[in-house]
Amino acid sequence: MSRFFSTKYKNLKAYTPGEQPRDMQYVKLNTNESPYPPSPSVSAAVMNEVGKLGLYSDPECTELVSEAAKLFGVKPTQILMTNGSDEILNFAFMAFCDEAHPIVFPDITYGFYPVFAELNGIQYEKIPLKDDFSIDINDYIGIGKNIVIANPNAPTGLTLSLNDIQKIIESNPNNVVIIDEAYVDFGTESAVSLIDRYDNLLVTQTFSKSRSMAGARLGFGIGAESLIADLCTIKYSTNPYNVNRMTMAAGVATLRENDYYMENCKKIIATREYTKNELEKLGFFVTDSKANFLFAKSDAIDGETLYLELKKRGVLVRHFTTEKIKDYNRITVGTPEQMDIFLTRVKEILNDIQK
Ligand code: PMP
Repeated sequence: MSRFFSTKYKNLKAYTPGEQPRDMQYVKLNTNESPYPPSPSVSAAVMNEVGKLGLYSDPECTELVSEAAKLFGVKPTQILMTNGSDEILNFAFMAFCDEAHPIVFPDITYGFYPVFAELNGIQYEKIPLKDDFSIDINDYIGIGKNIVIANPNAPTGLTLSLNDIQKIIESNPNNVVIIDEAYVDFGTESAVSLIDRYDNLLVTQTFSKSRSMAGARLGFGIGAESLIADLCTIKYSTNPYNVNRMTMAAGVATLRENDYYMENCKKIIATREYTKNELEKLGFFVTDSKANFLFAKSDAIDGETLYLELKKRGVLVRHFTTEKIKDYNRITVGTPEQMDIFLTRVKEILNDIQK
C-alpha cells in the first residue's frame, strides 16, 4: 500500500477472481464460462467495428437496448447496459444504499457483494442460509433493508421460486430488492416479468454465462424506469462509454441469435444432470443446481485436496476456503467431453487415495 492510498480503503479486501493460469492448457471448469463459442455472426459484427474504433461508442447503447427490450418484452427505458453485470451491481449499491439503507444478502453467496458494500462504505449483514444451503424467505420478509439475492444462488446453484421472490419484494416496499440472475438461463424462472408491478425490483443479468461473452464484458439491469434513471445518473457520473463498440456489436448479434444460445443452455443442462448423476454414483453429495455449475462434496476426500489433485492432473475447479463450504468444490459444466475427462480424473484420484 502506498502512503497515498485513501484511508477509506485501507481495510478493503478486494474480490479474488477465479484463477486464470497460463502455465498449461487446463480443462477449465472454475469460472462458469460457456464451453461453446459465440455464434459466427458475432465475429463478423465485431470485425465490422474495428475500423471505427477511433470513435467513441454510443453511450445510450441504442441498438443493443432496443434488441434487448424486444427479447425481454420491456421498454428500452427499463434497461441499462453495463460492463459486465458486476458493474450494474456496483452501480446499484452506489445508487440505492447509504447509511439509512444498508443491504442484506445470504452468508453464502456471490463473494463480490460484501466487496461492493465495503468499497462504497455501506453497512451490510449476511443472513445465514439454512443447513441445506436453501434461503429461508422468512428471514427477508419485512426486513426493511435493501436486499440482493442471486437466483440461482452461487456457488450452491439453489433457486427461489418466483412466488417467494414476490413475497420478499412486496414485504419490503420501501427498499430495493436486487435479483442477480447471472445463471437464470440454465433453468430458473426470471423475475423480469415482475418489473412492471414493483418499482423496487431490479433484475440483473449477464452475457458472460449463457451467451458465451465473458471476455467481452456485457451485463445489464432491468427494472422500473425510475430505478434505471437513477442507475443512469451513476453511469454518467462514472463512465458514460462503459460498453465498448466491439462488445456492443457482439451483444446485438448475440441477441438476434437467441435460439443458438438457448440451445447451448439446453445442452449444458443435459450435461449438468449427467455429471451430477455420475458424481452421485461415485458417492458425492451434489446440490440440486439449476446453474451452469455443480456444487459437490465427497466424504472420501476433502474439498481442498480434491481441488489440488485435479489441478495437478490438468483440471481446474473452484474451491472456497470459507468454513461452511470448504468441503465442497464448484465445478463449471463444460462440454460432455470435458466432463468425461473431469470424471475420469476424479475416479483416478479416489482410487489413488484408497491404495
Ligand atoms: N453475479 C454472480 C452470481 C456471478 O457469479 C457473477 C460471475 N462471477 C456475476 C454476477 C458477474 O458476472 P459478469 O460481471 O461477468 O457479468
